[in-house]
This record gives sequence, C-alpha cells and structure tokens, in this order.
Amino acid sequence: MLNQQGRPTAAGAGEQSARATFTSNRGLQMEEALIFEIGRRDVSGVDLDEPEAFSSRLGAHARVGEIGLPGLSEPETVRHYVRLSQKNYAIDSGLYPLGSCTMKHNPRLNEAMARLPGFADIHPLQPQSSVPGALALMDELSHWLLVLTNMEAVAMSPKAGAHGELCGMAAIKTAIDARGEGATRRIVLVPESAHGTNPATAASIGFEVKAVPAGADGKVHPDAVRALMGPDVAAIMLTNPNTCGLFETEIVEIAQILHEGGGYFYCDGANFNAIVGKARPGDLGVDAMHINLHKTFSTPHGGGGPGSGPVVLSARLAPFAPVPFLRRDGERLALVEHEEGTSSLGRLTAFHGQMGMFVRALSYILSHGADGLKQASEDAVLNANYVRACLADVMSLPFGNKPCMHEVLFDDSWLKDTGVTTLDFAKAMIDEGYHPMTMYFPLVVHGAMLIEPTESESRAALDLFIMTLRDLAMSALRGETERFIGAPYLAPRRRLDETRAARSPILRWVKPMRVE
Ligand SMILES: *Cc1c(COP(=O)(O)O)cnc(C)c1O
Repeated sequence: MLNQQGRPTAAGAGEQSARATFTSNRGLQMEEALIFEIGRRDVSGVDLDEPEAFSSRLGAHARVGEIGLPGLSEPETVRHYVRLSQKNYAIDSGLYPLGSCTMKHNPRLNEAMARLPGFADIHPLQPQSSVPGALALMDELSHWLLVLTNMEAVAMSPKAGAHGELCGMAAIKTAIDARGEGATRRIVLVPESAHGTNPATAASIGFEVKAVPAGADGKVHPDAVRALMGPDVAAIMLTNPNTCGLFETEIVEIAQILHEGGGYFYCDGANFNAIVGKARPGDLGVDAMHINLHKTFSTPHGGGGPGSGPVVLSARLAPFAPVPFLRRDGERLALVEHEEGTSSLGRLTAFHGQMGMFVRALSYILSHGADGLKQASEDAVLNANYVRACLADVMSLPFGNKPCMHEVLFDDSWLKDTGVTTLDFAKAMIDEGYHPMTMYFPLVVHGAMLIEPTESESRAALDLFIMTLRDLAMSALRGETERFIGAPYLAPRRRLDETRAARSPILRWVKPMRVE
C-alpha cells in the first residue's frame, strides 16, 4: 500500500511486526482509551453520604446541568493512570539522547529532599517568619549559582529557561531605558544557530531581531558581530557552548565589541552543563545568563516535572533585577516583594519561583561537591566525544571530525541517495527502544541530528547505543529503506501528523454521536 508520497504505509512494509491482535494490545503494550470513554456517570470509587439539605449561596452561578465527570472504580482508575505512565519514555526507562535538553539521571536523593515536609508542605502565602529554612535554602542555592558563574546577583523567580531569557532581556531593556536610550537601542543580535526561544524572547518585548551569520566552522565570528554593531544595538543573545555543540572561542572579544558599543551581552546558559567548574560566565564578559536548573543540576523535566530558570546578572544589571529578591539583614533573610525605592524591572511571576526545583538542584550540587560538579562536566564532554569518535566513520559531521563539547552534531549528507531522511532514521531508533536525538535543530545544519548522551550514561550503555546507531546506519547505506520508511513499526502509534497535532490540537473531548 502506498500513500500520497509513494511511500509504503502502515499496512505495508511492517505488516508482520504490526500484526493485529483481538484487543489491539501488543504484548504488554496496552491500548488505553480516554478516561471519558471508559468512565461511567453512575460509577464512583468512593461512597459519599447524601448531602444534608442546604441552600446554595451561588445564586445565578449555581450549576444546573450534570457535571459529567467520568466515574471509575479505584482499580480501574489505578490501571488507567499506570498504563498511561508506561507510555511515557523517560530517562528512568532508557537512554534519552535529546540534544540541548540534557536529559540526565535525576538522583533519588534529590527526590527524598524535595519530599521533606518542611519543603514540600509549605505554602507561598505563609508569613515569611514561618519559613526561614526555605529562605535559607534559596540563599544557599543563590550563593552556589553566583560562585559557579562569578556573577553579581541572581534572580530566582523565572520558571524555566525561556522565562529566564525574558527576565534577562527585560533587565537589559530596563537598564537601557534608565540610560534614556530606550527609543534608539532597539536591535538585538541573535546568531542563526540560536534556540528559537532567543529571537522569540527579544521580539516579544519589543526588540527588533537581526541574525548574525554563523562561520563555516559553526561558530560566531567577531567580525560578523562588529559588522552589525552600532548605537542602535541593545544586546546580543549568544549560546555558549552553542547549539552546534561547540565552544564559542571568541566569546571574550564578542563581549568586548558589545560593551564598547554600549550594548549588553546575554548568554543563553542552557548548555552550562558542559562548563560548570571549568569556566565562569562572569569571567567571559556575560551580563545576564539563565541557568536551566532542570538541565544542568538534574531535576526531572520534559514531562517529568517543571523547569526552573534562575538568571545571574552582572554588576551593571544587578540593580534592575526583578522582585522578589532575597535581602540579608544581619542573620535574618527577607524576600523583598515590592519594587518601591529600587530600579527593579518589576515582577515576573506570582511568588518566588519553583521551590521544589530549588531543593532538588541544591541537593544535586551539595551531593556532588565542587569536584563532582567539575567531573560531571568533564564526563558529559567525554561521553559526547566518545559517541562522535565511534560514529564519525559512518555518519557525517558538518564541521569536521573535531572535538565537541557535551553534544555531538551530525548532518544528513551521509544519507544522500539512500532514500532515508533524518526523520526516517530517528523513527527507526524508536523500534530499537531509543528516544530519538534532537532532529532538524540547529537550523544552520541540513538534516541535523544532535546527540547529547550526558555524563550519567555508563560505557556499556553508550556502547550499545553506538552499536545500534551503527547497525541502523549500515542498514540505510545498504539500501534497506523499508526498515526506515514505515518506522516506527513497534510503537503503540506509528507516524503522526506532528505539525497538525501542534497547530490544531483537539483539547476537548466530544462525545461521539450515538447511532440509534
Ligand atoms: C532548553 C533550551 C532553552 C529553553 O529552556 P526551557 O527551560 O525549555 O524554557 C533555551 N535555549 C537553549 C539552547 C535550550 O537548550
């Protein structure tokens, strides 16, 4: 069977492996319907007493119709959610080489600490005098972040990396406004290899984005920045190590160009995992940088938990930090909640940030120690280079077979004339039990495949991953296109229309019409 593109469809090549079963279960991979489809109105997992007579005070707001929630017995409810949870590929189930995301092991010690009642059961509206321990924890984590980055101040409230970008760029905007240059400094330089959140952040607070071309070696060159620098430039947003997995070696000169021209240097610190303990952004001329606690300092993310994106600020930007911030008054710590009398940019979010993530990140930092953090960075880089060295003879490296940082970037030129694309290759990895690498990002490389193994994979796990990719690569080069074109054959769902799912999601379940 062929679809419009002339490719075999689900019922084609993989037929024998996709054999239909009576239940649609595939071995122990259970089909699971929506809770609205299996729940019944007349069933409940609990016995509730009939309510005593009361008069509603809701007036016209009282619900008149049935609430329509699906009812299930307790064992049915448990099975439903356990089965759903088993469909989640997680770092706890296998290697998760999603480049730029740092899907590393989340030590269980972090979880034990985050569940301590003194952290887990407090409420952000409690009086500050009742949570001195939580404030002390935020203070200690702030201290570590400042020591590791050699920066002046840190804003703890941003809730993820992209939110941190917003915080840092808002600090830059506030500083520029304070200088009276708000009307003229309107341009933010963003390298072509940047994460999409960088230009989106700059544009969303009213800056105009200008792209900085990447050099043939995948790095940003000072001359390219100098050519764009002028009195209208507010800042550059540069990722280091960059999204090609390379250290921006000219970063100090680039920072100088910005500073001499009156601009600021925002560093996207999502890849901090590669340099913790080795290089400090404050020594490189950085004015603001977000730290993805959920990447660099573990803490579960990507469906497993929320993010947290504290932003470290240079002395030039520290006065513009958002509220709330911690202030020490002798022994006493206090959260400053209002910006009166300060030049703060204002408030970014309700409350103070992601407390549970702060606990996990500090637990990670303290259990590793300074030497352990440095070793984690070194091992992350070592593991990525091991993958690079073991695959360089079959897969192509866009910038040559040279050392990379914590992730290795391949392109699709090695797949030329095989009829297999980056997407096909990634889908075939699913059949082998691996989460695909990051695909088609960064955009500067054709058919990009960005692999980040992280430091928490063992040599044995890396070897099996490498052998699997070699087996797939050889298969593609031998012309065994069937293995790829219809993949994944063994997943609960086959190829989905991901664009349509993202652009027009169906978020509300509608009861199917009954045919009487
Ligand atoms: C992950 C990432 C971001 C965004 O961080 P979130 O926590 O997902 O908002 C920004 N830039 C780069 C390079 C990243 O890898």
